[in-house]
Amino acid sequence: MQVSVDFLTVTLCEKDNYRYGGRYHITNAAETKKVASDDLQTMGAIMEREAMEFDVVIVGGGPSGLSAAIRLKQLAAESGREIEVCLIEKGSEVGAHILSGAVLEPRSLNELIPDWKERGAPLDTPVTADKFMFLTETGSFRLPTPPQMNNHGNYIISLGNFSRWLGEQAEALGVEIYPGFAAAEVLYDDSGAVCGIATGDMGIGKDGEQTDMYMRGMELRAKQTIFAEGCRGHLTKTLFDRFDLREGKDPQTYAIGIKELWDIDPEKSKPGTAWHSVGWPLSTDTYGGSFLYHLNGNQVAVGYVVGLDYSNPHLSPFEEFQRFKTHPAVRGVFEGGRRVAYGARALNEGGFQSIPKLTFPGGCLVGCTAGFLNVPKIKGTHTAMKSGMTAAEAIFESLEAMQPGHEPASYAERLQDSWLWSELYKVRNIRPGFAKGLWRGMINAAIDTYLFMGRAPWTMRHHADHITLKTASEAPKIDYPKPDGVISFDRNSSVYLSGTNHEENQPAHLTLKDSSVPIEHNLALYDAPEQRYCPAGVYEIVREEDGSNPRLQINAQNCVHCKTCDIKDPSQNIVWVTPEGGGGPNYPNM
Ligand SMILES: Cc1cc2nc3c(=O)[nH]c(=O)nc-3n(C[C@H](O)[C@H](O)[C@H](O)COP(=O)(O)OP(=O)(O)OC[C@H]3O[C@@H](n4cnc5c(N)ncnc54)[C@H](O)[C@@H]3O)c2cc1C
Ligand code: SF4
Repeated sequence: MQVSVDFLTVTLCEKDNYRYGGRYHITNAAETKKVASDDLQTMGAIMEREAMEFDVVIVGGGPSGLSAAIRLKQLAAESGREIEVCLIEKGSEVGAHILSGAVLEPRSLNELIPDWKERGAPLDTPVTADKFMFLTETGSFRLPTPPQMNNHGNYIISLGNFSRWLGEQAEALGVEIYPGFAAAEVLYDDSGAVCGIATGDMGIGKDGEQTDMYMRGMELRAKQTIFAEGCRGHLTKTLFDRFDLREGKDPQTYAIGIKELWDIDPEKSKPGTAWHSVGWPLSTDTYGGSFLYHLNGNQVAVGYVVGLDYSNPHLSPFEEFQRFKTHPAVRGVFEGGRRVAYGARALNEGGFQSIPKLTFPGGCLVGCTAGFLNVPKIKGTHTAMKSGMTAAEAIFESLEAMQPGHEPASYAERLQDSWLWSELYKVRNIRPGFAKGLWRGMINAAIDTYLFMGRAPWTMRHHADHITLKTASEAPKIDYPKPDGVISFDRNSSVYLSGTNHEENQPAHLTLKDSSVPIEHNLALYDAPEQRYCPAGVYEIVREEDGSNPRLQINAQNCVHCKTCDIKDPSQNIVWVTPEGGGGPNYPNM
């Protein structure tokens, strides 16, 4: 039984144990008491962090984490064993923070849930046509579709809805899923091995003091912890440092993807068409391009991806996207339509040579937090799922007799024997070839694909994205047109459509290592590029009326959790940490 008390759902128990149940619970089989919120807050203030024990804790409810959870439970059912698997998700529900293209290659899904059609998986739009275009400022011409972008047999989907469906499958198998809780801290045992995570305290004010809503975080302890945080995972970054997981690997490289969903004129709808472009509006020294997917129901998913190794600090990925939609080749699709959703998310592009060591004592990394996206395909969902499934298999085989601090090393070995490894190996030289511009990149991609068949006797290297900016005076200014409010829009009205919401009275989740850097370094050298690369208008340089006294204003409540600032800030001074669970975008079907 549960009773609502102001902000909590509370049930009191004999042992005074605390349990999570999507909300904060105090469980009691025997009786339920109504607890005054005052009493609860007093208890919250004095209580130690409570702990719950599981076999496996998974951080992140995207395709990789959910696939790991499902596979673990499937294996347990096949061998007639009971295992406890818990998954936490920082979004208000599974799918709320998921943003993707998305064309799904169903290979991993076929392996994981072969009867997905009968189970009603939301794969409603098979790809029927592929188009790859080059845009000039006023014209366009069709390019041959690279083999990696042939989408025959794939489906245009909403990855958010697909993740929701995976979440239902996982829950049906007995996975405990707790949305609305962010893993804020990794827990280590006495030997230094990972032994779980802790959720953040709730109800801490901007000033760092407890508010009336204070509630202590919770420890979720496990024999194994799987980190499935997606691209640029916040806790994963701390694991990289702690266990030297990136030693001897190339730096990870990234792109920002900005996306809108449009309801379009039914007469213009071509369900199943997957359309991509390179060229205008980006200059040829910047990696990027568009995607435009026609879904069933007269909807179009349109987005723009810009490699975060761009060098011009005046560039604004958001404005490039808005400009792209005005091109004559696509403008007509949107005319008479209505934009219904907006969002942004970073994606990783380092590929094979940037994959870190995947395991450490007590756990492992799966999906895009490790970096399994196949860049030429612009697909990471099937690889994220495969890595989650493989990690689950490696963990399950030794779970019964597992000692604390076990490192699931066979996960990496199994992955190296799987199709995922050879798939990423074959395309490893394509993305770094674009570091020298579009044309050299295209020629390199053609030679690597058709002549060497992905087996060139060399591997091209990557550089970190935050070191690539020229200074503002060295780079040409870009004059972006004003949004027309019909096809192109400003940041504020866009963020509104992302449903983003954060508790305002909480410590900043966009933290600065040194508060002088934004003005003395970033503004002075690069004209404060965070004003332009942030797709949500979080960073603003504000001044007095006479233009003096510039300061960086951080509108953290607008943050859509894309992680671009954490990646691109030239001195790595911005550190994204998890805000209170449930905060952030509320994407309906991105
Ligand atoms: C613009 C764009 C277009 C793309 N197009 C395609 C495409 O067409 N096809 C394709 O296959 N792939 C595409 N991708 C890539 C694909 O979306 C990713 O590869 C895939 O989502 C990775 O899955 P994941 O589970 O690793 O991470 P995610 O899908 O990012 O999921 C991670 C989850 O973990 C949660 N989380 C993170 N940190 C915490 C924490 N500390 N505590 C609790 N929860 C946490 C997040 O809220 C999120 O729900 C695209 C990506 C982008 C950005
Ligand atoms: S503040 Fe950072 S993470 Fe948030 S939307 Fe802006 S760039 Fe993305």
